[in-house]
Amino acid sequence: MSLIKCPECGKEISDKAPRCPNCGYEASKRKKTKIIVFAGILSGITLFFLCFVLVIIILLNHKTPMEKMVQNSYKELKKIEGPFISLETASVYKYTTSEGEEKYDILLVYEKNNTEMYAAFNNDGRFLGDGNTHNSSMGYSEKNAQALLDDFNVISMKMALINYFLGIDDSEYSENFVTEKEAVKYDECAVLISVKKIK
Ligand SMILES: [Zn+2]
Repeated sequence: MSLIKCPECGKEISDKAPRCPNCGYEASKRKKTKIIVFAGILSGITLFFLCFVLVIIILLNHKTPMEKMVQNSYKELKKIEGPFISLETASVYKYTTSEGEEKYDILLVYEKNNTEMYAAFNNDGRFLGDGNTHNSSMGYSEKNAQALLDDFNVISMKMALINYFLGIDDSEYSENFVTEKEAVKYDECAVLISVKKIK
């Protein structure tokens, strides 16, 4: 037998006493209190665990701004190529216009029917081409000039990526293949993006 404090009046009473001799507080109430406290702790632990799982899920699905650009481009590509393609490699090319505006072009390397293919988009989702469609018979109207510029950009991106994988440090881009975090430092650079989170 040990002495405990009555939760009602605070006087010391036996823990075996069915009721407090001082105020009449019933021991069964004490048990109820214990159960409520226990249930509270249990739901607290459950809530903590659920939050933990939620945080893990959010972290696993969290995409960096450039990963989001790749994800959006891949969605656009699937509209063109259908769902039976698989993304192999992705890279983002950052450049700054003469007006100081930051722009991004996205190059996707994907597999379709066991063939490796390329596609490029700008960060507004516009398809820039696949780097193979250069048409020299095009005139120089404003629209075609844009198409020629797009082709040139896609070919430059493609060459930069191929050279990077070949270990050749020769590219149109002043800072070739830096991390996304480092990219903020440069007006012009290329970033290789992990495709693990891209579906
Ligand atoms: Zn009491």
